[in-house]
Amino acid sequence: MGSSADLHRRRSAVVARGVSSMISSYVDTAGGGTLTDLEGREWIDFAAGIAVTNVGNAAPKVVEAVKAQAERFTHTCFMIAPYEQYVAVCEELAALTPGDFEKRSALFNSGAEAVENAVKIARHATGRQAVVVFDHAYHGRTNLTMALTAKVMPYKQGFGPFAGEIYRVPMSYPLRDGRSGAEAAAFAIGQIEKTVGAVNVAAVLIEPIQGEGGFVVPAPGFLPAIAEWSRANGAVFIADEIQTGFCRTGAWFASEHEGVEPDLITTAKGIAGGLPLAAVTGRAEIMDAVHPGGLGGTYGGNPIACAAALASIETMRELDLAAAARHIEAVARPRLEALAAKHPVIGEIRGRGAMLALELVNADGTPDPVTTAAVQRKAHELGLLLLTCGTYGNVIRLLPPLIMSDDELDRGLTLLEQSF
Ligand SMILES: *Cc1c(COP(=O)(O)O)cnc(C)c1O
Repeated sequence: MGSSADLHRRRSAVVARGVSSMISSYVDTAGGGTLTDLEGREWIDFAAGIAVTNVGNAAPKVVEAVKAQAERFTHTCFMIAPYEQYVAVCEELAALTPGDFEKRSALFNSGAEAVENAVKIARHATGRQAVVVFDHAYHGRTNLTMALTAKVMPYKQGFGPFAGEIYRVPMSYPLRDGRSGAEAAAFAIGQIEKTVGAVNVAAVLIEPIQGEGGFVVPAPGFLPAIAEWSRANGAVFIADEIQTGFCRTGAWFASEHEGVEPDLITTAKGIAGGLPLAAVTGRAEIMDAVHPGGLGGTYGGNPIACAAALASIETMRELDLAAAARHIEAVARPRLEALAAKHPVIGEIRGRGAMLALELVNADGTPDPVTTAAVQRKAHELGLLLLTCGTYGNVIRLLPPLIMSDDELDRGLTLLEQSF
């Protein structure tokens, strides 16, 4: 296999430059809260492959389920010859997502594909076209989802023209807008009514806690007010829970923290322990508005990915990973608050459960991406896999696997403290 440096040379000759990697070391094995590279160096994993391996890497039940399913059959295409695993995943999604009403699901391969399909479904069900999204939103990299995503560099630069009928309104961002949830919602709703027109809105699409955009937690009351307005005006309220879902924030889904019952929910990332799977789940009457054959794809709901999802969900239940996420917050938040007290560059600690962030600011409160990048570099030198995010590149985010041990969490937090 060679060293990381060998692989880097091989990669440079054949892998497109547009696909970049955060660290230059190549992975040998990963499990629990640790990654080991080809040089035998251990990394504490505060990334979980971007909130994917919530149950841990190569989680035992997932490995077993994948092996067993691969031996039975690998692919038949659910649209051609259906199988139980797909149905079972949809049953779990109906039971686990918020809302005590009849639901339907459709399965896909990636988060972006789920978001695209949620928009297709909402437009079909309402007969309307406009889609409302928010500042700092991230919804993917396909043509439609690039249009839904806010940040230009690196996601959109040079990739236009973008899909039409997308309208962006202000997000509740307590550190920066100083508005209560109700005030921020009234402001956003005013924008929608004046610049889009309530009768034109097919869907309002929002991350309950923003991911790539900076782990922005809207002020309390914002989400319920936006959901309520959507319902009152015949628009489909879509919660993009691709990053926040599956126990990450200390509940199965982040919408639950504010008692919001979305019409549609998109999920992916944490759903299947690392296998590619995504879903749109929602009210039966909206989902079933689409004619038979209107939704699908060759690989959507692949049997191995479905088997992995069922094993992941079983693991989340058995180990109560929502409680584990709350435990991670209980351990990490006081350490982060203490760090913020020592370093004025940390303007705010925020997030929920095992989705925590530090926003770095200059003395005048403006974003500080320079220190953010320096802290991240230092963390990598010290062996901590650490991600940043934010429209201004000034947010450090913690996304450990939920099964991370107290010892690994302690070591990771110590490395973060040392990086500052
Ligand atoms: C990652 C992400 C997506 C896109 O998912 P992919 O699987 O990368 O296509 C969409 N929405 C949110 C909130 C995400 O975090």
